[in-house]
Amino acid sequence: MSDTAQIVTRFAPSPTGYLHIGGARTALFNWLYARGRGGKFLLRIEDTDRARSTPEATAAILKGLEWLGLDWDDEPISQFARKDRHAEVAREMLEKGRAYKCFSTTEEIAAWREANPRQPFQSPWRDATDLPDAPYAIRLKAPRTGETVIADSVQGEVRVANDQLDDMVLLRSDGTPTYMLAVVVDDHDMGVTHVIRGDDHLTNTARQIQIYDAMGWPRPVFAHIPLIHGEDGKKLSKRHGAVGLHEFAALGYPAGAMRNYLARLGWSHGDDELFDDGQAREWFDLSGIGRAPARLDFKKLEHVSGHHIGAMEDTSLLSALEDFLAETGGEPLTPRQKERLCPALTVLKQKARTLPQLLDQARFALIERPVDIDEKAAKALDPVSRGMLKSLTAAVQHASWTRDALEQAAKAVAEEYGVGLGKLAGPLRAALAGRTATPSVFDMMTALGREESLARLHDQTELAG
Ligand code: GLU
Repeated sequence: MSDTAQIVTRFAPSPTGYLHIGGARTALFNWLYARGRGGKFLLRIEDTDRARSTPEATAAILKGLEWLGLDWDDEPISQFARKDRHAEVAREMLEKGRAYKCFSTTEEIAAWREANPRQPFQSPWRDATDLPDAPYAIRLKAPRTGETVIADSVQGEVRVANDQLDDMVLLRSDGTPTYMLAVVVDDHDMGVTHVIRGDDHLTNTARQIQIYDAMGWPRPVFAHIPLIHGEDGKKLSKRHGAVGLHEFAALGYPAGAMRNYLARLGWSHGDDELFDDGQAREWFDLSGIGRAPARLDFKKLEHVSGHHIGAMEDTSLLSALEDFLAETGGEPLTPRQKERLCPALTVLKQKARTLPQLLDQARFALIERPVDIDEKAAKALDPVSRGMLKSLTAAVQHASWTRDALEQAAKAVAEEYGVGLGKLAGPLRAALAGRTATPSVFDMMTALGREESLARLHDQTELAG
């Protein structure tokens, strides 16, 4: 047995599709809780539904978790692979007298239900002693009176009258374990101390508790978190736009921003909206989880994303951009582009809210000479403005290459020509970037450096003859 004080959490997705944003948040909460307490975060793939579980879905979920930066301990566990162990526990309960063999057929159960509407099924085999030699299911001998009480860390005390719960099937007559049994056996065997999951599982919890009690196993701490709703307050669905984590990645929100944003979906720490991983690990606690459903709010997400992009190191930002391009089918960056992009990021990252916005702003650093000039930008280039660019070239050729010095020089040239700075900025922008929507010309010049900037100006002034 491992250290009894160690916290163990888990994420237990069913591999039937992609990683939903709600699942990603559940995983994050479990990860934060464990990581903030020196605990373990485990992964269990609930692949018992053979018809719906696919290896592609498992791969997509693991990829999503990796993208989000949620690392797990040990190898992921396949629930299906543990079916013999689940059956073993059902038989153990049988031996202990906490479960019984039920020989009722599907037809008999249906007939009983018809005769006893709105009542949980009561098997005639619960206390039978004379047993036939026929196929049987193993059912839990659940308490018939009293209540099962869930002490939930988020929902508070939830009570379920035992006469509302039937003797659940643990092992079907074909020998396959039920989901309810599998979850409890796995959580117990994995040493899970805290079960943090969506509140759509709350109704299962009363049943799962009955299994813990029947086996005499300690119950884990339960925390059922409210589901995520859309901006209209309705349950999140495709109608609301992106719902898969991969869709958010493709929209260009960096993983660190998603972690921050998802942590705030249903959990709070005072008024703190923007934080890093260290703070999240330190602050995250079950007491900060609210009971009301959180609403997905893209405006807020953009804000959080902008903050994180601005706070990222240039090198991590560069690799986030490269991953983004790879994932969205963009051309990979060449070494020359990377060389020019890095200094551009320093000046641009404060203003972009998403990675594609940043790439768009940084386009001037990605293009090669001779710069293609679009129709709108070309309007700013005529013999007079080309002459101004020539004077500017002469003025900055030997000046120090700082934003201030460049601005001073440009002002002096504009003055010399008796025009405002804007009249010079137009052709300068065209020469440097080939279009009209760009970052500030001085930011572009500092990012491009002396040699590349002057070469781009030269390309235009030479055209002037
Ligand atoms: N496999 C379940 C799901 O994907 C989670 C079960 C659990 O967390 O106990 O919703």
